[in-house]
Order: sequence, then structure tokens, then C-alpha cells
Amino acid sequence: MSRYWSPIVDTLKPYVAGEQPRIRNLVKLNTNENPYGPSPKVLAAIRAAADDGLRLYPDPSATVLREAIAARFGVQPDEVFAGNGSDEVLAHTFQALLKHDKPLLYPDITYSFYPTYSRLYDIEAVEIPLDEAFRIRLADYDRSCGAIIIPNPNAPTGVALSLAEIETLVAGHADAPVVIDEAYIDFGGETAAGLISRYPNLLVVQTLSKSRSLAGMRVGFALGQRPLIDALERVKDSFNSYPLDRLAQVAATAAVEDVDWFETCRHKIIATRERLTGELERLGFEVLPSQANFVFARHPDLPGAEVYAGLRAEGVLVRHWNKPRIADHLRISIGTDAECERLIEVLKSLP
Ligand code: PMP
Repeated sequence: MSRYWSPIVDTLKPYVAGEQPRIRNLVKLNTNENPYGPSPKVLAAIRAAADDGLRLYPDPSATVLREAIAARFGVQPDEVFAGNGSDEVLAHTFQALLKHDKPLLYPDITYSFYPTYSRLYDIEAVEIPLDEAFRIRLADYDRSCGAIIIPNPNAPTGVALSLAEIETLVAGHADAPVVIDEAYIDFGGETAAGLISRYPNLLVVQTLSKSRSLAGMRVGFALGQRPLIDALERVKDSFNSYPLDRLAQVAATAAVEDVDWFETCRHKIIATRERLTGELERLGFEVLPSQANFVFARHPDLPGAEVYAGLRAEGVLVRHWNKPRIADHLRISIGTDAECERLIEVLKSLP
């Protein structure tokens, strides 16, 4: 039979998203969502915008949202690019910036969309192994490349680089774009947003899905100097990707502006993470030092698949990783205190 598609399609490694089960009373600790709802001001903004204005197309430039993000990060609105979740922002980044004759570098292991996008856009990638402590070793990136992309903190490990280390990486590759994916930065890391005015090769990508509890709305953004942001805009407008819808724009603006809610929720999550880490260690788990809203853990004597299944049977859903370099690890999103206590209770009851 003839094949009507490009050979690349056969080599794609599609991203496998975490489960979103329909059962509502699960303790859902598998996809790094925020256990606290979005700010009440966000809900009020959505209600206020849910009127007959919905017959109008949204502002294609998301001007008000970009102004709010710019004010929050001390940049200009034209140094902000907004998209439907940071996954879309990252897709445009791969399309716009990463197609070079030299390879793209990213860690092995890391966010699994990077290999997916590399295949899809036919970008040569070199995966740089983490060290034995699952840390990114900067010296390994000291090589000629077309671009670098790193999540900080890394996923699914939760281990972060310091701001000084990020600056060393960006400064050391002045001729290549360096993309820092800060999906989890608000849970203990230090954002590189303040470096943008000094480094034209730096692009910082963030999401409202985690620390601002808006995963269901799909809003992400990138910060960078104008030429980089213009490149993303050109790709977006050539691609006919949809602008953020009207409700997403007002919700995201209210979320960025409600700093009190953001601060309260992220600090609660950090405190719960520290407690959960201690409890898991008391049960014999090895837990990586996390600066994210999840922990990455394994038990030296218990097969991860069995722990996963035992938890699942009791209604507690976590993510099990069994790739070669991270065999038998569990990634546990930080829930409320009650949800994490339930997790510990079930772990204690497992045979
Ligand atoms: N980057 C990393 C490292 C992530 O883990 C995620 C969430 N899966 C994303 C980006 C994408 O987040 P979103 O599309 O919800 O903004």
C-alpha cells in the first residue's frame, strides 16, 4: 500500500500525557496540578466576561494580559509572548529558534515533549546525561550547539540549577538561543527573567498551569528581548495558531495580578512538599531534593510498578516512570496536606 505521509511521521515519538481519569474522588497526584483552586478573583473575572461579548473574537495580541505579565516581571509588553499553554509556546520556540545546522542540547532525562518536538520538526538533538545525583552538569554543555533547552527545575526530577549556574550557561553560549523552561520555578527556584535585559539569546518560558492553578485554561508565556519575541510572533501568525480565547485572557490577567493568592498557595505547597519528603524518607524511600510541586522517589526494596498499583487500588493516583535511566521511580505531585496524608497511610498499609 502506498504511504501518503512523510517518513518522519513513522519515526515520531508522540508525547504520552498523564492520565486524566473521570472518577472524581481519586486522590490525584499524577499530573502536577495545583491542589488549590485558582484565585476567587480569577473566577469573578471569568464570570464577568461570560456574557454576549463572547460573540466577538478575542484580542489576537492578548494586550492586557501581556501588559500584566510585563508589569509583574519588569519587562516591556513587547518582550512577552503569550500562548495556549507553555506546550504551545515551546512548540513555536522549536519551530522558530531551534532549526540549526548544529544540534540542540537538552538533558537526558527531561520533559518528554522535547524529544517529541525534535522528531516532529526534524531537529537534530543531543541528549546530555544527568550525573549520578540526577543533576545537570554544566560542563557537559560546554560544546558547540545550535540551541539549548533546559527546564529549571528539571522534570521529572524536580532538581534545580541556581540562577548563577543559569547565567553561566546563557553567557557561555552567546551565539545560540538558550531556552529556560520555568514551568515549576515558583516552588523554590529563582527565575532567570531578570537576566533578559542583558542576554539577547535568553528565552524564559513559564506557565499558569502550576503555581497559578489554571491548567484547565491553557495559558503560558515567554519572556525575551524583542527579536526573539518577534520571531515567535512570526511563527505563530504563519501557523494560524489560535490566540488565547477571551475567557483565558481575563482569567490569566486576574491570576497574574492576584499576588497574595499566588504567594499563599505556593508557600503551602512548598511546606507540604517538605513534610511529605520527610514522611517518605521515614518509610525508606530515596527522594530527590525537589524545588518543584512534585517529588521524584524510589524505594530500594519495593518495585515501583507494585507501589503504583497498590496506591491506585486504594484510589491514590501517582505517576510511575520506568525508562532506562529512571527505572522504578514514582513522581508524586504535591496535593493538599490531607491528600498527602492519605498517600502515606496507603503506603504504610502496602504489604
Ligand atoms: N514544561 C514542563 C517542564 C512541564 O512539565 C509542563 C507540564 N506538563 C509544561 C512545560 C507544559 O505546561 P502547560 O502546557 O500546561 O503550560
